Amino acid sequence: MQKYFSNYSPSTGNKICEIEITSEQALDNIIRKAQSAFKIWSRMSGLERGKILNKAARIIRERSFEIAQLEVLDSGKPITEALEVDVPTSADALEYFAGIAPSVQGEHIQLGKSFAYTRREPLGICAGIGAWNYPFQIACWKSAPALACGNVMIFKPSELTPMNANKLEQIYLEAGVPEGVFQVVQGGREVGEMLSLHPEIRKISLTGSIPTGKRIMENSAKSLKHVSLELGGKSPLIIFDDFDFDRASSIAILANFYTQGEICCNGTRVFVHKKIKEKFIESLLSKVEKIKVGDPFDSNTQMGSLISKQHLQRVLSYIESGKEEGATLLCGGTQPEWSPSQIKFANGNFILPTVFTNCHDEMKIVKEEIFGPVMSILEFEDENEVIQRANNTEYGLAAGVLTHNIKRAHRVIENLQAGMCWINNYNISPVEVPFGGMKGSGFGRENGLAAIECYTQLKTVYVEMDD
Ligand code: NAD
Repeated sequence: MQKYFSNYSPSTGNKICEIEITSEQALDNIIRKAQSAFKIWSRMSGLERGKILNKAARIIRERSFEIAQLEVLDSGKPITEALEVDVPTSADALEYFAGIAPSVQGEHIQLGKSFAYTRREPLGICAGIGAWNYPFQIACWKSAPALACGNVMIFKPSELTPMNANKLEQIYLEAGVPEGVFQVVQGGREVGEMLSLHPEIRKISLTGSIPTGKRIMENSAKSLKHVSLELGGKSPLIIFDDFDFDRASSIAILANFYTQGEICCNGTRVFVHKKIKEKFIESLLSKVEKIKVGDPFDSNTQMGSLISKQHLQRVLSYIESGKEEGATLLCGGTQPEWSPSQIKFANGNFILPTVFTNCHDEMKIVKEEIFGPVMSILEFEDENEVIQRANNTEYGLAAGVLTHNIKRAHRVIENLQAGMCWINNYNISPVEVPFGGMKGSGFGRENGLAAIECYTQLKTVYVEMDD
Protein backbone atom coordinates (compact mmCIF):
# COMPACT_ATOMS: atom_id res chain seq x y z
CA MET A 1 0.00 0.00 0.00
CA GLN A 2 1.23 3.49 -0.82
CA LYS A 3 2.11 5.71 2.14
CA TYR A 4 1.97 9.51 2.28
CA PHE A 5 3.14 12.32 4.53
CA SER A 6 1.62 15.78 4.91
CA ASN A 7 3.46 18.99 4.12
CA TYR A 8 2.51 22.15 6.06
CA SER A 9 3.16 25.85 5.51
CA PRO A 10 5.45 27.09 8.30
CA SER A 11 3.98 30.60 8.18
CA THR A 12 0.26 29.72 8.45
CA GLY A 13 0.22 26.13 9.66
CA ASN A 14 -2.08 25.24 6.73
CA LYS A 15 -1.62 21.96 4.94
CA ILE A 16 -0.01 22.41 1.50
CA CYS A 17 -0.16 18.90 0.10
CA GLU A 18 0.36 15.19 0.64
CA ILE A 19 3.50 13.58 -0.72
CA GLU A 20 3.95 9.91 -1.52
CA ILE A 21 6.72 8.21 0.45
CA THR A 22 9.17 6.29 -1.72
CA SER A 23 8.81 2.56 -1.03
CA GLU A 24 11.62 0.01 -1.05
CA GLN A 25 10.29 -1.41 -4.30
CA ALA A 26 10.15 2.06 -5.89
CA LEU A 27 13.73 2.67 -4.78
CA ASP A 28 14.84 -0.54 -6.51
CA ASN A 29 13.32 0.76 -9.76
CA ILE A 30 15.04 4.10 -9.24
CA ILE A 31 18.36 2.33 -8.71
CA ARG A 32 17.93 0.33 -11.93
CA LYS A 33 17.18 3.54 -13.85
CA ALA A 34 20.19 5.20 -12.26
CA GLN A 35 22.46 2.30 -13.28
CA SER A 36 21.38 2.58 -16.93
CA ALA A 37 21.66 6.37 -16.85
CA PHE A 38 25.17 6.18 -15.39
CA LYS A 39 26.36 4.25 -18.47
CA ILE A 40 25.21 7.09 -20.73
CA TRP A 41 26.07 10.11 -18.57
CA SER A 42 29.53 8.98 -17.42
CA ARG A 43 30.60 8.28 -21.02
CA MET A 44 29.65 11.73 -22.27
CA SER A 45 32.48 14.24 -22.41
CA GLY A 46 32.78 16.78 -19.61
CA LEU A 47 32.15 19.51 -22.16
CA GLU A 48 28.84 17.95 -23.18
CA ARG A 49 27.76 17.52 -19.58
CA GLY A 50 28.78 21.10 -18.86
CA LYS A 51 26.65 22.44 -21.72
CA ILE A 52 23.59 20.66 -20.33
CA LEU A 53 24.24 21.93 -16.80
CA ASN A 54 24.57 25.45 -18.16
CA LYS A 55 21.23 25.08 -19.87
CA ALA A 56 19.66 23.93 -16.58
CA ALA A 57 21.16 27.00 -14.88
CA ARG A 58 19.55 29.23 -17.52
CA ILE A 59 16.16 27.63 -16.89
CA ILE A 60 16.59 28.16 -13.14
CA ARG A 61 17.30 31.85 -13.71
CA GLU A 62 14.30 32.21 -16.04
CA ARG A 63 12.01 30.55 -13.47
CA SER A 64 13.54 32.15 -10.42
CA PHE A 65 10.28 33.74 -9.27
CA GLU A 66 8.35 30.48 -9.49
CA ILE A 67 11.10 28.56 -7.66
CA ALA A 68 11.45 31.28 -5.01
CA GLN A 69 7.72 31.30 -4.33
CA LEU A 70 7.64 27.55 -3.81
CA GLU A 71 10.69 27.81 -1.56
CA VAL A 72 8.96 30.43 0.59
CA LEU A 73 5.75 28.41 0.82
CA ASP A 74 7.70 25.34 1.88
CA SER A 75 10.34 26.85 4.19
CA GLY A 76 8.83 30.10 5.55
CA LYS A 77 11.91 32.17 4.62
CA PRO A 78 11.46 35.73 3.26
CA ILE A 79 10.87 36.06 -0.48
CA THR A 80 13.69 38.57 -0.91
CA GLU A 81 16.18 36.01 0.42
CA ALA A 82 14.82 33.27 -1.83
CA LEU A 83 14.93 35.55 -4.88
CA GLU A 84 18.24 37.25 -4.21
CA VAL A 85 20.22 34.42 -2.67
CA ASP A 86 18.76 30.91 -2.73
CA VAL A 87 17.83 30.76 -6.42
CA PRO A 88 20.74 32.69 -7.98
CA THR A 89 23.36 30.88 -5.89
CA SER A 90 21.82 27.58 -6.95
CA ALA A 91 22.22 28.57 -10.60
CA ASP A 92 25.77 29.73 -9.78
CA ALA A 93 26.60 26.20 -8.59
CA LEU A 94 25.45 24.67 -11.87
CA GLU A 95 27.38 27.24 -13.92
CA TYR A 96 30.55 26.90 -11.86
CA PHE A 97 30.64 23.10 -12.08
CA ALA A 98 29.55 23.18 -15.73
CA GLY A 99 32.71 25.19 -16.40
CA ILE A 100 34.88 22.75 -14.48
CA ALA A 101 33.39 19.56 -15.98
CA PRO A 102 35.69 19.51 -19.06
CA SER A 103 38.79 19.92 -16.86
CA VAL A 104 38.23 17.09 -14.40
CA GLN A 105 41.47 15.30 -15.09
CA GLY A 106 44.31 13.21 -13.75
CA GLU A 107 48.07 13.65 -14.01
CA HIS A 108 50.99 12.20 -15.89
CA ILE A 109 53.93 10.82 -13.90
CA GLN A 110 57.12 10.14 -15.90
CA LEU A 111 59.17 7.17 -14.57
CA GLY A 112 62.26 7.07 -16.79
CA LYS A 113 61.12 5.45 -20.04
CA SER A 114 57.90 4.20 -18.47
CA PHE A 115 55.19 6.35 -17.08
CA ALA A 116 52.01 6.30 -15.09
CA TYR A 117 48.88 8.37 -15.31
CA THR A 118 45.87 8.89 -13.13
CA ARG A 119 42.24 9.11 -14.12
CA ARG A 120 39.67 10.93 -12.03
CA GLU A 121 36.61 8.72 -12.42
CA PRO A 122 33.06 9.19 -11.17
CA LEU A 123 31.90 7.14 -8.17
CA GLY A 124 28.65 5.90 -9.70
CA ILE A 125 25.31 6.36 -7.95
CA CYS A 126 25.54 9.07 -5.30
CA ALA A 127 22.79 9.97 -2.84
CA GLY A 128 22.20 13.49 -1.57
CA ILE A 129 20.19 13.94 1.64
CA GLY A 130 19.10 17.49 2.39
CA ALA A 131 18.12 19.64 5.38
CA TRP A 132 15.13 22.01 5.32
CA ASN A 133 16.78 25.43 5.63
CA TYR A 134 18.08 25.82 2.04
CA PRO A 135 16.12 23.12 0.17
CA PHE A 136 16.74 24.20 -3.42
CA GLN A 137 20.28 25.41 -2.86
CA ILE A 138 21.31 22.20 -1.08
CA ALA A 139 19.90 20.11 -3.96
CA CYS A 140 21.97 22.18 -6.42
CA TRP A 141 25.14 22.32 -4.29
CA LYS A 142 25.12 18.52 -4.17
CA SER A 143 23.90 17.62 -7.64
CA ALA A 144 25.97 20.14 -9.64
CA PRO A 145 29.44 18.75 -8.74
CA ALA A 146 28.13 15.17 -8.70
CA LEU A 147 26.70 15.43 -12.21
CA ALA A 148 29.62 17.48 -13.56
CA CYS A 149 31.96 14.62 -12.61
CA GLY A 150 29.80 12.05 -14.44
CA ASN A 151 27.95 10.57 -11.47
CA VAL A 152 24.22 10.11 -11.20
CA MET A 153 22.34 11.27 -8.10
CA ILE A 154 19.35 10.19 -6.08
CA PHE A 155 18.29 13.13 -3.94
CA LYS A 156 16.12 13.07 -0.85
CA PRO A 157 14.95 16.46 0.35
CA SER A 158 13.94 16.96 3.96
CA GLU A 159 10.40 15.77 4.60
CA LEU A 160 9.68 19.31 5.89
CA THR A 161 10.55 20.93 2.53
CA PRO A 162 9.84 18.35 -0.15
CA MET A 163 8.63 20.52 -3.05
CA ASN A 164 11.46 22.15 -4.97
CA ALA A 165 13.58 19.01 -5.46
CA ASN A 166 10.97 17.73 -7.89
CA LYS A 167 11.13 21.04 -9.71
CA LEU A 168 14.90 20.66 -10.05
CA GLU A 169 14.39 17.16 -11.48
CA GLN A 170 12.01 18.59 -14.12
CA ILE A 171 14.48 21.36 -14.97
CA TYR A 172 17.34 18.90 -15.42
CA LEU A 173 15.20 16.80 -17.76
CA GLU A 174 14.17 19.86 -19.77
CA ALA A 175 17.79 20.91 -20.08
CA GLY A 176 18.69 17.54 -21.59
CA VAL A 177 20.00 15.57 -18.61
CA PRO A 178 19.14 11.95 -19.52
CA GLU A 179 16.34 10.32 -17.57
CA GLY A 180 17.60 8.60 -14.42
CA VAL A 181 20.64 10.86 -13.93
CA PHE A 182 18.93 12.95 -11.23
CA GLN A 183 16.02 11.36 -9.40
CA VAL A 184 14.14 12.42 -6.30
CA VAL A 185 12.93 10.19 -3.50
CA GLN A 186 10.59 11.44 -0.80
CA GLY A 187 10.19 10.62 2.87
CA GLY A 188 11.89 11.02 6.22
CA ARG A 189 14.39 9.07 8.25
CA GLU A 190 13.25 5.66 6.97
CA VAL A 191 13.89 6.60 3.33
CA GLY A 192 17.26 8.12 4.28
CA GLU A 193 18.13 4.81 5.95
CA MET A 194 17.18 2.89 2.81
CA LEU A 195 19.64 5.06 0.87
CA SER A 196 22.50 4.71 3.31
CA LEU A 197 22.01 0.92 3.47
CA HIS A 198 21.60 0.33 -0.26
CA PRO A 199 24.64 -1.55 -1.58
CA GLU A 200 24.42 -0.05 -5.07
CA ILE A 201 24.80 3.52 -3.79
CA ARG A 202 28.48 4.46 -3.66
CA LYS A 203 28.32 7.77 -1.85
CA ILE A 204 26.12 9.66 0.60
CA SER A 205 26.36 13.42 1.00
CA LEU A 206 24.31 14.63 3.96
CA THR A 207 23.40 18.08 5.15
CA GLY A 208 21.87 17.59 8.58
CA SER A 209 22.44 17.06 12.27
CA ILE A 210 25.26 15.24 14.07
CA PRO A 211 23.13 12.23 15.18
CA THR A 212 21.97 11.72 11.58
CA GLY A 213 25.56 12.01 10.34
CA LYS A 214 26.74 9.34 12.79
CA ARG A 215 23.91 7.01 11.82
CA ILE A 216 24.67 7.46 8.12
CA MET A 217 28.33 6.62 8.73
CA GLU A 218 27.34 3.46 10.59
CA ASN A 219 25.03 2.36 7.80
CA SER A 220 27.47 3.36 5.07
CA ALA A 221 30.22 1.32 6.70
CA LYS A 222 28.33 -1.86 5.77
CA SER A 223 29.05 -1.29 2.08
CA LEU A 224 32.02 1.08 2.57
CA LYS A 225 30.37 4.05 0.91
CA HIS A 226 32.08 7.38 0.55
CA VAL A 227 30.53 9.87 2.96
CA SER A 228 30.46 13.68 3.13
CA LEU A 229 28.83 15.24 6.17
CA GLU A 230 27.78 18.88 6.46
CA LEU A 231 26.55 18.99 10.03
CA GLY A 232 25.66 21.54 12.66
CA GLY A 233 27.58 24.30 14.33
CA LYS A 234 27.87 26.68 17.27
CA SER A 235 30.28 29.09 15.73
CA PRO A 236 32.14 31.99 17.34
CA LEU A 237 32.12 35.55 16.02
CA ILE A 238 35.00 37.41 17.71
CA ILE A 239 34.89 41.20 17.77
CA PHE A 240 38.10 42.96 18.80
CA ASP A 241 38.12 46.46 20.27
CA ASP A 242 39.82 48.10 17.27
CA PHE A 243 36.81 47.27 15.07
CA ASP A 244 34.02 49.76 14.49
CA PHE A 245 31.24 48.66 16.85
CA ASP A 246 28.50 49.86 14.50
CA ARG A 247 29.76 47.78 11.59
CA ALA A 248 30.29 44.91 14.01
CA SER A 249 26.65 45.01 15.08
CA SER A 250 25.50 44.80 11.43
CA ILE A 251 27.77 41.81 10.84
CA ALA A 252 26.50 40.14 14.04
CA ILE A 253 22.92 40.60 12.79
CA LEU A 254 23.82 38.98 9.47
CA ALA A 255 25.54 36.19 11.38
CA ASN A 256 22.50 35.49 13.57
CA PHE A 257 19.19 36.53 12.06
CA TYR A 258 19.44 35.82 8.34
CA THR A 259 16.97 33.00 7.42
CA GLN A 260 15.43 33.31 10.93
CA GLY A 261 18.72 32.07 12.35
CA GLU A 262 18.25 28.70 10.65
CA ILE A 263 21.77 28.60 9.24
CA CYS A 264 24.29 25.96 10.22
CA CYS A 265 27.32 28.26 10.15
CA ASN A 266 25.75 31.15 12.09
CA GLY A 267 28.02 32.97 14.54
CA THR A 268 25.75 32.53 17.54
CA ARG A 269 28.47 32.90 20.17
CA VAL A 270 29.30 36.57 19.81
CA PHE A 271 32.50 37.30 21.75
CA VAL A 272 32.81 41.07 22.17
CA HIS A 273 35.85 42.78 23.65
CA LYS A 274 35.04 44.28 27.04
CA LYS A 275 36.07 47.79 25.91
CA ILE A 276 33.40 48.07 23.19
CA LYS A 277 30.69 45.78 24.57
CA GLU A 278 28.31 48.48 25.81
CA LYS A 279 28.49 50.53 22.59
CA PHE A 280 28.15 47.36 20.52
CA ILE A 281 24.99 46.34 22.40
CA GLU A 282 23.45 49.80 22.05
CA SER A 283 24.06 49.82 18.30
CA LEU A 284 22.85 46.22 17.95
CA LEU A 285 19.56 46.77 19.78
CA SER A 286 18.73 49.89 17.80
CA LYS A 287 18.97 47.79 14.63
CA VAL A 288 17.36 44.58 15.90
CA GLU A 289 14.20 46.37 16.98
CA LYS A 290 13.72 47.49 13.36
CA ILE A 291 13.91 43.97 11.89
CA LYS A 292 10.60 43.28 10.19
CA VAL A 293 9.23 39.85 11.12
CA GLY A 294 6.15 38.66 9.28
CA ASP A 295 4.57 37.55 6.02
CA PRO A 296 7.38 35.78 4.15
CA PHE A 297 5.76 36.66 0.82
CA ASP A 298 5.99 40.40 1.58
CA SER A 299 9.12 41.87 0.00
CA ASN A 300 9.63 44.15 3.04
CA THR A 301 9.86 41.22 5.44
CA GLN A 302 13.32 40.50 6.83
CA MET A 303 12.55 37.48 8.98
CA GLY A 304 10.01 34.78 8.18
CA SER A 305 8.82 31.84 10.24
CA LEU A 306 10.67 28.88 11.71
CA ILE A 307 10.20 25.59 9.93
CA SER A 308 7.79 23.74 12.26
CA LYS A 309 5.81 23.84 15.49
CA GLN A 310 8.21 21.34 17.00
CA HIS A 311 11.22 23.48 16.10
CA LEU A 312 9.51 26.62 17.45
CA GLN A 313 8.93 24.85 20.79
CA ARG A 314 12.56 23.76 20.83
CA VAL A 315 13.81 27.32 20.27
CA LEU A 316 11.41 28.70 22.91
CA SER A 317 12.63 26.11 25.42
CA TYR A 318 16.24 27.21 24.80
CA ILE A 319 15.17 30.78 25.51
CA GLU A 320 13.60 29.64 28.80
CA SER A 321 16.80 27.82 29.73
CA GLY A 322 18.82 30.97 28.98
CA LYS A 323 16.65 32.94 31.41
CA GLU A 324 16.78 30.20 34.05
CA GLU A 325 20.57 29.98 33.84
CA GLY A 326 20.89 33.72 34.48
CA ALA A 327 21.53 35.26 31.05
CA THR A 328 19.98 38.70 30.52
CA LEU A 329 17.34 38.82 27.79
CA LEU A 330 17.83 42.10 25.92
CA CYS A 331 15.13 41.70 23.28
CA GLY A 332 12.80 39.18 21.66
CA GLY A 333 12.26 35.85 23.33
CA THR A 334 8.60 35.57 22.33
CA GLN A 335 6.36 35.20 19.31
CA PRO A 336 5.21 38.43 17.65
CA GLU A 337 1.79 39.91 18.35
CA TRP A 338 -0.37 40.11 15.25
CA SER A 339 -2.76 42.84 14.15
CA PRO A 340 -6.25 41.70 13.02
CA SER A 341 -5.17 41.93 9.35
CA GLN A 342 -2.29 39.52 10.00
CA ILE A 343 -4.27 37.04 12.03
CA LYS A 344 -3.61 34.23 9.54
CA PHE A 345 -0.03 34.14 10.84
CA ALA A 346 -1.12 33.53 14.43
CA ASN A 347 -0.74 29.80 13.81
CA GLY A 348 2.67 30.26 12.14
CA ASN A 349 6.00 29.47 13.74
CA PHE A 350 7.31 33.02 14.06
CA ILE A 351 9.66 34.23 16.74
CA LEU A 352 11.22 37.63 17.37
CA PRO A 353 14.98 38.10 17.01
CA THR A 354 16.37 37.35 20.45
CA VAL A 355 19.53 38.65 22.10
CA PHE A 356 21.01 37.50 25.41
CA THR A 357 23.91 39.13 27.21
CA ASN A 358 25.77 38.29 30.42
CA CYS A 359 26.15 34.78 29.04
CA HIS A 360 28.85 32.40 30.16
CA ASP A 361 30.43 29.48 28.36
CA GLU A 362 28.69 26.71 30.29
CA MET A 363 25.12 27.86 29.59
CA LYS A 364 22.99 25.59 27.39
CA ILE A 365 22.22 28.46 25.00
CA VAL A 366 25.97 28.96 24.51
CA LYS A 367 26.94 25.30 24.21
CA GLU A 368 24.17 23.82 22.07
CA GLU A 369 23.05 24.54 18.53
CA ILE A 370 19.66 26.28 18.69
CA PHE A 371 19.21 26.77 14.92
CA GLY A 372 16.96 29.77 15.49
CA PRO A 373 17.30 33.55 15.93
CA VAL A 374 18.99 33.53 19.32
CA MET A 375 22.26 35.43 19.82
CA SER A 376 24.43 35.02 22.91
CA ILE A 377 26.83 37.86 23.75
CA LEU A 378 29.97 36.89 25.67
CA GLU A 379 32.61 39.28 26.96
CA PHE A 380 36.38 38.76 26.59
CA GLU A 381 39.56 40.69 27.27
CA ASP A 382 42.47 38.71 25.92
CA GLU A 383 43.31 37.11 22.56
CA ASN A 384 44.52 33.76 23.92
CA GLU A 385 41.57 33.56 26.24
CA VAL A 386 39.06 34.08 23.44
CA ILE A 387 40.74 31.53 21.14
CA GLN A 388 40.59 28.89 23.85
CA ARG A 389 36.94 29.67 24.63
CA ALA A 390 35.97 29.79 20.94
CA ASN A 391 37.46 26.31 20.42
CA ASN A 392 35.80 24.88 23.51
CA THR A 393 33.02 23.14 21.57
CA GLU A 394 32.37 19.80 19.90
CA TYR A 395 31.58 21.70 16.69
CA GLY A 396 33.97 23.21 14.15
CA LEU A 397 31.94 24.52 11.26
CA ALA A 398 32.66 28.25 11.04
CA ALA A 399 34.23 31.25 12.76
CA GLY A 400 34.49 34.99 12.22
CA VAL A 401 37.08 37.51 13.37
CA LEU A 402 36.52 41.26 13.22
CA THR A 403 39.69 43.33 13.55
CA HIS A 404 41.76 45.71 11.43
CA ASN A 405 44.97 44.35 12.90
CA ILE A 406 46.11 42.15 10.01
CA LYS A 407 48.58 40.07 12.00
CA ARG A 408 46.09 39.41 14.75
CA ALA A 409 43.38 38.45 12.27
CA HIS A 410 45.48 35.73 10.64
CA ARG A 411 47.02 34.59 13.94
CA VAL A 412 43.60 34.08 15.49
CA ILE A 413 42.17 32.33 12.42
CA GLU A 414 45.16 29.99 12.33
CA ASN A 415 44.34 28.91 15.86
CA LEU A 416 40.59 28.49 15.43
CA GLN A 417 39.24 24.98 14.85
CA ALA A 418 36.71 25.73 12.11
CA GLY A 419 36.36 24.78 8.46
CA MET A 420 34.89 28.04 7.14
CA CYS A 421 36.37 31.26 8.50
CA TRP A 422 35.70 34.90 7.72
CA ILE A 423 37.77 37.98 8.47
CA ASN A 424 35.74 41.21 8.72
CA ASN A 425 32.52 39.70 7.37
CA TYR A 426 30.32 36.69 7.98
CA ASN A 427 28.11 34.12 6.19
CA ILE A 428 29.44 34.82 2.72
CA SER A 429 29.69 31.52 0.81
CA PRO A 430 30.22 31.95 -2.93
CA VAL A 431 30.38 28.76 -4.97
CA GLU A 432 34.08 29.21 -5.78
CA VAL A 433 34.96 28.73 -2.10
CA PRO A 434 35.09 25.29 -0.41
CA PHE A 435 32.56 24.99 2.41
CA GLY A 436 32.52 22.42 5.21
CA GLY A 437 33.39 21.63 8.79
CA MET A 438 35.95 20.24 11.19
CA LYS A 439 35.45 18.21 14.39
CA GLY A 440 31.77 17.41 15.07
CA SER A 441 30.62 19.56 12.17
CA GLY A 442 31.64 16.87 9.69
CA PHE A 443 33.99 16.44 6.78
CA GLY A 444 34.06 16.61 3.01
CA ARG A 445 33.56 19.88 1.20
CA GLU A 446 30.86 21.42 -0.93
CA ASN A 447 31.69 24.03 -3.56
CA GLY A 448 35.06 25.03 -4.94
CA LEU A 449 37.49 22.62 -6.57
CA ALA A 450 37.50 20.62 -3.32
CA ALA A 451 34.02 19.30 -4.19
CA ILE A 452 35.46 17.51 -7.22
CA GLU A 453 37.56 15.30 -4.93
CA CYS A 454 34.41 14.38 -3.02
CA TYR A 455 32.64 13.13 -6.15
CA THR A 456 35.47 11.29 -7.93
CA GLN A 457 37.87 8.42 -7.30
CA LEU A 458 41.40 8.08 -8.55
CA LYS A 459 42.55 5.26 -10.84
CA THR A 460 46.31 4.91 -11.36
CA VAL A 461 47.62 3.29 -14.54
CA TYR A 462 51.25 2.18 -14.81
CA VAL A 463 52.50 1.88 -18.41
CA GLU A 464 55.60 -0.24 -19.01
CA MET A 465 57.68 1.16 -21.91
CA ASP A 466 60.87 -0.87 -21.36
CA ASP A 467 61.48 -4.20 -23.11
P1 NAD B 1 18.25 16.08 10.35
O1 NAD B 1 19.56 15.45 10.61
O2 NAD B 1 17.13 15.79 11.25
O3 NAD B 1 17.73 15.72 8.87
C1 NAD B 1 18.53 15.94 7.74
C2 NAD B 1 18.13 14.99 6.65
O4 NAD B 1 18.48 13.66 7.04
C3 NAD B 1 16.61 14.94 6.37
O5 NAD B 1 16.42 14.80 4.99
C4 NAD B 1 16.17 13.70 7.11
O6 NAD B 1 15.01 13.10 6.57
C5 NAD B 1 17.37 12.79 6.94
N1 NAD B 1 17.52 11.76 7.96
C6 NAD B 1 17.12 11.79 9.26
N2 NAD B 1 17.50 10.65 9.88
C7 NAD B 1 18.16 9.90 8.95
C8 NAD B 1 18.82 8.63 8.99
N3 NAD B 1 18.84 7.89 10.10
N4 NAD B 1 19.40 8.17 7.86
C9 NAD B 1 19.41 8.91 6.73
N5 NAD B 1 18.80 10.12 6.64
C10 NAD B 1 18.18 10.60 7.75
O7 NAD B 1 18.54 17.65 10.27
P2 NAD B 1 17.50 18.82 9.97
O8 NAD B 1 16.66 19.03 11.18
O9 NAD B 1 16.83 18.60 8.67
O10 NAD B 1 18.49 20.05 9.75
C11 NAD B 1 19.05 20.75 10.81
C12 NAD B 1 20.47 20.34 11.02
O11 NAD B 1 21.19 20.41 9.80
C13 NAD B 1 21.19 21.28 11.96
O12 NAD B 1 22.03 20.57 12.84
C14 NAD B 1 22.02 22.14 11.02
O13 NAD B 1 23.13 22.73 11.59
C15 NAD B 1 22.38 21.16 9.96
N6 NAD B 1 22.74 21.85 8.72
C16 NAD B 1 24.04 21.84 8.32
C17 NAD B 1 24.42 22.51 7.17
C18 NAD B 1 25.86 22.51 6.69
O14 NAD B 1 26.09 22.79 5.54
N7 NAD B 1 26.82 22.19 7.52
C19 NAD B 1 23.48 23.22 6.44
C20 NAD B 1 22.15 23.22 6.88
C21 NAD B 1 21.80 22.52 8.03
